Amino acid sequence: MDDIIRRDPRAERIARNRLHPDYDSVSASSSLMVGGINRKDVHNTGILSAEGIKRIDRSGAAVAKGLASQRLKEATLPLHAIPEPEGFIVVFSDADSDKLTVLDKDMLGLAHQLSATYDNQTAVLFISLYPRTDDLSLYGAHRTLTLSSTDYSPEVWLRNLLVLEDTLQPKHWVFADGSLCGSDLARRLAVSLKERPVTRGKHYLDGTLNCGSGDASKSVDRAVSRILLVEEQVADPISGFVTEAEEIAHLAGSDSHAGIEDLGQVAVDPANIPLAETRFILSGGNGVRNWALFHQCAKTLGATEGASRVAVDNGFMPRTTQVGATGTYVNAKVYVAVGISGAIQHLQGMTHCDTVIAINADPNCDMVKRADLSVIADSSEVMQALVNAIEGSDSAGVFDHAG
Ligand SMILES: Cc1cc2nc3c(=O)[nH]c(=O)nc-3n(C[C@H](O)[C@H](O)[C@H](O)COP(=O)(O)OP(=O)(O)OC[C@H]3O[C@@H](n4cnc5c(N)ncnc54)[C@H](O)[C@@H]3O)c2cc1C
Repeated sequence: MDDIIRRDPRAERIARNRLHPDYDSVSASSSLMVGGINRKDVHNTGILSAEGIKRIDRSGAAVAKGLASQRLKEATLPLHAIPEPEGFIVVFSDADSDKLTVLDKDMLGLAHQLSATYDNQTAVLFISLYPRTDDLSLYGAHRTLTLSSTDYSPEVWLRNLLVLEDTLQPKHWVFADGSLCGSDLARRLAVSLKERPVTRGKHYLDGTLNCGSGDASKSVDRAVSRILLVEEQVADPISGFVTEAEEIAHLAGSDSHAGIEDLGQVAVDPANIPLAETRFILSGGNGVRNWALFHQCAKTLGATEGASRVAVDNGFMPRTTQVGATGTYVNAKVYVAVGISGAIQHLQGMTHCDTVIAINADPNCDMVKRADLSVIADSSEVMQALVNAIEGSDSAGVFDHAG
């Protein structure tokens, strides 16, 4: 017998069916590999109610409106405080704004699992480049540190991390393995410390990280190292307790001169920003009657285009633009849904959007119920009015994707 984990289609089917009699035993098996692909766990979308009971919130309305954090506080969950830490696990935020990402929460969950393998006196230090608007005590940060983000300065950030390495000697460094600065910084740190990182960590279990490999149909198990680069769903976010989230003092003397000069941000074509990363989406559904106008509106607004499955199936939009359970999960600050009814499969894909605007002829549809702002009118009329207003005001591409 070799050590290669092979696909077992029957086990995979059972693992997807919570009502199957063998579900518990099969899903507990660490050797189960679901195609080597990091799949979304649609069941993992709950919030804690005021009574401390986990509730499914598929639309994300409660999460988006901050009710989750309010209820958690009301529930006065036990405080997991570490006044005198014996060690630290550092989590470097994946966010490119003041909002925590899904991966940030997963990384904090992973840090707590790692902390439990020591003595639970190992504190989690969360480092971000932006001041946070989220309450970090709900996601498991014992200490927080904000580095300046005014300039793109990986060398200065690295020097800050090396100061932390000298002073705190963290047991682990956890970074996001993505396209943002965290994964670049992780590699710089690994080279500086001459440590071999574990990359593309997909799932943590009992001291082992299941990681992506060169072959997309396979994954490999690796023992955790000091520097870990991980992906979404590597671990569950914490629940059932809060932490103290104390800001630690800025590292003195670490902001020395950088070798890289930041010449500022450059404009990018919103059409070229991946749907999962873009901050502003104009999404079209079956209620769009004029697709040429839809494209013009997206261009004028400076939005990335998304679509419902019906719009894709009808051939109006490419498959890559589909938002939802069987499309892309998006994380935009502003999501404008034009003529989209708000079916559950679509809402699942936009759970983490901050502000949702619905343009729909039906005031009772689910998208209007989910939206923060609704315009009840014909889609073509509203899009034309938007184009006229923006072109008239001479400020095409109103949305600043960096902000
Ligand atoms: C297994 C499975 C997976 C799925 N995965 C996805 C997925 O990932 N993503 C996804 O989107 N769907 C998915 N679906 C399909 C989903 O169930 C819905 O059928 C789909 O989202 C509906 O798309 P829609 O809202 O564009 O169309 P409709 O449901 O037809 O809604 C059209 C909306 O436009 C409005 N409208 C009509 N005319 C106008 C007008 N002139 N002006 C303004 N508004 C107007 C209507 O009031 C209505 O609300 C999936 C379904 C299944 C079974």
